[in-house]
Amino acid sequence: MIMNLNDHYQLHIDGESVPASTDDALVTNDPATGEPIAKFAQATTADVDRAVGAAREAVSAWRSKTPVERGQILQDVATQIRANADDLAQIESRDQGKPLTQAQSDVEDAARYFEYYAGAADKLEGKSIPRGDETLDMTVREPYGVSGQIIPWNFPLSITARGVAPALAAGNTVVVKPAPTTPLSALHLATLCRDAGVPDGVVNVVTGGTAPGVALTSHDGVDQLTFTGSVPTGQAVMKAAAETITPVTLELGGKNPAIVMPDADLDAAAFWIATGIFTNAGQICSAADRALVHESIYDEFIELLVDHAVSYDLGPGTDDPDMGPLNHAEHFETVVDYIETGLEDGATLETGGEPLDEDGHFVPPTVFSDVDPEMRIAQEEIFGPVLAVIPFADRTEALEIANGVEFGLTGGVFSRDITQALGIAREIDAGGVYVNEWFGGSVETPFGGMKQSGIGREKGLEALDSYLQTKNIAINLDEDGH
Ligand code: NAD
Repeated sequence: MIMNLNDHYQLHIDGESVPASTDDALVTNDPATGEPIAKFAQATTADVDRAVGAAREAVSAWRSKTPVERGQILQDVATQIRANADDLAQIESRDQGKPLTQAQSDVEDAARYFEYYAGAADKLEGKSIPRGDETLDMTVREPYGVSGQIIPWNFPLSITARGVAPALAAGNTVVVKPAPTTPLSALHLATLCRDAGVPDGVVNVVTGGTAPGVALTSHDGVDQLTFTGSVPTGQAVMKAAAETITPVTLELGGKNPAIVMPDADLDAAAFWIATGIFTNAGQICSAADRALVHESIYDEFIELLVDHAVSYDLGPGTDDPDMGPLNHAEHFETVVDYIETGLEDGATLETGGEPLDEDGHFVPPTVFSDVDPEMRIAQEEIFGPVLAVIPFADRTEALEIANGVEFGLTGGVFSRDITQALGIAREIDAGGVYVNEWFGGSVETPFGGMKQSGIGREKGLEALDSYLQTKNIAINLDEDGH
């Protein structure tokens, strides 16, 4: 099933691999070498129109399948993903740059999304509302129709599955636009969906850069939008959606605080924070970007963090090192610029900072201490393996620093005193808080942001709310008909 990485990838529309209406192909590069690994089609506005048309055409047949049938097909998609897990992980690792083990875990997550929402398809119940003997009032939950989904480059496969699976379970059809530096796994997923029995037109993928993204988000044939990416692009998506009053789910960036109280298990906290900021080379919206450390343990804790940082080996993702390269050249430059900014602003570089002298986009684990909460490296999302360590004197100051950014995606607290930890967890402005761990949560738990980190929730049963609209039906039972 799996195509060759040197193939020229086409669009996936109406169950088929089809060329774009222009010959201008794009290229996706290996982040470990900068060398091209595959060509792919650049969708035009006309191609997006074609994909939305196919998705629209498929809505009626897909939503009229019984929920059990829809669930069975989604379960079969999960089976297909697992049957092709090795190939998918290789492709994801090569295209995105992440270590193979992490790509394998993403593939399993993708299978889990389909499995989880397969089980939910026949449980999307409405309510009956008591209004007296002469009325029967009930709600039914209906799909929107066509869901447009824009995907970033940090978790190309699992974020695609995260949006497509609940949309399909709820009876919608989808048009997916992957990021231009990681288009491959979404195309393979569309093929696997077809092989699993998803009817033609229910899952469509249009590849390309910003233009097909704009075409999709401003298309009047799209009934619901799911966007994952940066805040500025999220704002553009929301503005485009406003023109057609299309509902949006936005998963945007983060600048997430990890608060380390003096009574914490420091070895465990250092392990979790290093894992939280260096996994996927820091290209995770929920990363542990800022370690807020009580001043009484500050020096000791920095030593523990540095020990972890220097222990990471870097290499091409497909060699399965601890850390791979950053995804693409432009992003690599951004991260290097942030490191420069940190130095200019007076933070102390404890380790890392110097990009590897190689063709790929390698930045080693980097730890800054003496970081002032107002510095740019403490305020702006770097999306790289760069940790800002900030001291605090007491809980009040820790929370002021933690909440003193525009984002509110995740946060964490480390303390052996569970009452204290829970109190702090309740006061962190974030859609998700981890206690004595990082990246807690899973396919089953809601995920999303407060403040500028987004609108709505992905994952868990709550995600289904984004793909269903409620209809209230009031039935007159009065025997006289009045
Ligand atoms: P990005 O905003 O640059 O691009 C995201 C996607 O939007 C890409 O597919 C891109 O082609 C498309 N796009 C660009 N301009 C567009 C426009 N005007 N209209 C429609 N689509 C457009 O983000 P990125 O650089 O790919 O990803 C990194 C960002 O994503 C980070 O800020 C990160 O925090 C965020 N992110 C958030 C989550 C989450 O779940 N909260 C998950 C992953 C990434």
